Amino acid sequence: MYLPPYIQTALRILKEHGAQGYAVGGCVRDALLGREVNDYDLTVNVPPEVTEACFAGYKVIGTGLKHGTVTVVLEGHNVEITSFRVDGGYTDLRRPDSVRFTSSLAEDLSRRDFTVNAMAYSPETGLADLFGGREDLQGRLIRCVGDPDTRFGEDALRILRALRFASVLGFEIEPATAASVLKNADNLTHISAERVFAELKKLMTGETAERILISFRPVIEICIPALTALSSAAYEEAARAAGALRDPVLSFAALLRPAGPEAANRTCRALKTDNKFRVSVCFLTERCDTVFAAPGQARRALGEYGKERCLQLLRFREALGRPADALNAVCAEPQTLPTRLADLRVGGADLAALGFAGKDVGRILEALLEQASDGALPNERDALLRAATKPEEQ
Ligand code: ATP
Ligand code: MG
Repeated sequence: MYLPPYIQTALRILKEHGAQGYAVGGCVRDALLGREVNDYDLTVNVPPEVTEACFAGYKVIGTGLKHGTVTVVLEGHNVEITSFRVDGGYTDLRRPDSVRFTSSLAEDLSRRDFTVNAMAYSPETGLADLFGGREDLQGRLIRCVGDPDTRFGEDALRILRALRFASVLGFEIEPATAASVLKNADNLTHISAERVFAELKKLMTGETAERILISFRPVIEICIPALTALSSAAYEEAARAAGALRDPVLSFAALLRPAGPEAANRTCRALKTDNKFRVSVCFLTERCDTVFAAPGQARRALGEYGKERCLQLLRFREALGRPADALNAVCAEPQTLPTRLADLRVGGADLAALGFAGKDVGRILEALLEQASDGALPNERDALLRAATKPEEQ
């Protein structure tokens, strides 16, 4: 298995101090699958104070020390090294009440969620695979380490992680694990909104999101109750669109669209998404059926919403099978015509100088923009001022 030089350096330094380190978890899984590895996590058979001492002379960040994690800066990379650990009891369905350090690799691997995530590797010892992780990679299966009901009972977030890994990797969920996912799904209500949202985002943009969203609808509904009211046909169509989009904002909007913009807004608030995410999802669910018949109307929409949002709307509409209209044409052309009041070559002060006051100023500027964005009136100062004083504008 390939390990980048800075990881090899970390393992070598540990070894020189008599400790045994391993690459563990997601990096082993992804490397064995031939997928790109996001980050390398290391695990080690000594307690965190000893890890720290091994790297005296290096920059060490001790923020995760309580949980046994020491971060070392090596060759410009932050390397997280976590001591072998066993989790104590669970009473909140999420976090262990205590952690205990151990010198047993087997104990550390057995606390991990899924067989494919419970393998460790070091160049000297080779692959440690105590739960059949490699076989499950070959069979493309997500399977709990140990008894699924126990594992999902300890930490309900694992329920969503199972769906997320299945979606991202394109794996099936092993039958006993899948049955337990459905049986324990209610426990997800104890998990914080932020964590649920983070998992949902990854799940919905995964390779086989459509399949997972459809097969595990009851779990998704616990996270997004607004979907409960949808018919099977409406839900499945939304899941298909969401799965095809491969983008968090667009996928969420696709799934929530049949529930309506208000439900989309409520859902984003309940999941504590950031505001930009919420506003974008609401905009898409609200605007996907607006027809922009005239170029001027499309240009003003471009001015009002901005290019980024309009391009997002075009992608969204296309995925939903909506026909192209003037907004497609206007977004593709170089913007020579004004789209916003700020683009007009006259402003409020010019109109005030002509004797207009109060609400008339805004009304006339809007009327000028309407004509200029249609191309009916040149965006030139003299022409605009002339048009402003025409009798029908007063
Ligand atoms: P990725 O980083 O690609 O999302 P990963 O497998 O590295 O995937 P992380 O959340 O970074 O996932 O966790 C690292 C490892 O820690 C996992 O591979 C797994 O072994 C273990 N792990 C993480 N969260 C849990 C959990 N809730 N319960 C049990 N083990 C977990
Ligand atoms: Mg990771």
